[in-house]
Amino acid sequence: MLDVNVVGVLFLHAGCNMRCGFCITDDTCGSMTLDEALTTLEVLEARGVGNVVLGGGEPTLWSPGVFRLSAEAHARGFLVQIGTNGIVLPSDYAQNPSVARYVLPLESAGAEIHDRMRPGGAASHHAVMLGRLEELRKVGRQVTLSTVVSAWNAQELPALADWLSRYAEQGGRIHAWHLYRFVPEGRGGEVNADSMRISLADYEAACEEVKGRTLPFSVLKRPDMRHSKTVDFFWYEGGRLQVGSEVWA
Ligand code: SF4
Repeated sequence: MLDVNVVGVLFLHAGCNMRCGFCITDDTCGSMTLDEALTTLEVLEARGVGNVVLGGGEPTLWSPGVFRLSAEAHARGFLVQIGTNGIVLPSDYAQNPSVARYVLPLESAGAEIHDRMRPGGAASHHAVMLGRLEELRKVGRQVTLSTVVSAWNAQELPALADWLSRYAEQGGRIHAWHLYRFVPEGRGGEVNADSMRISLADYEAACEEVKGRTLPFSVLKRPDMRHSKTVDFFWYEGGRLQVGSEVWA
């Protein structure tokens, strides 16, 4: 029996077309083959995990094709989400019947800080995100937003909450807004640790300001993006499936 309240995130590969300053992706993460991804779905099924997030790196650059996998997962009864930077998506992505919702990043309401945190891949990634959100709003498709809270953008959260409220008032369907605390690790986070690091107290204060508001969507704190009581992470390393720190076979 699949439980859609239990979430499994698949790291399909480490490749990406961006160079985010806080990226925690480790280049040692292997690339799953299609067979390995399908095996992972079987493991999820056996564990009763009903909500699968297809992620990367950037999943739309995964060579077997993330929409091929989403169709397969959907046919097996999973609720499917794709966590993407939104740069490379097919023209019909918003109507894709196998995807329940997209998980998109937005680091600030204005372009300057978002684009400073998320360089590479597009002249203004902020503009790409606003375009994707508008496309999803027009077809009534749900979206989950994620923000990495760092010393660069913590003061931006109130303005971002205002912006998301207006988006929702105009018909945008926000499933939830996740606030991840910056982690000084990985190919981006380690490099920018000194300038982006945020204390737990400052992170909590920034989150509480927006969580204290009455917003038309859930706001979820994620003080440690690598660990969660309700989410398991799956990837391949050296040809073996990893679940958190666990090796399966
Ligand atoms: S955080 Fe940025 S660089 Fe890292 S995988 Fe995601 S989109 Fe790519």
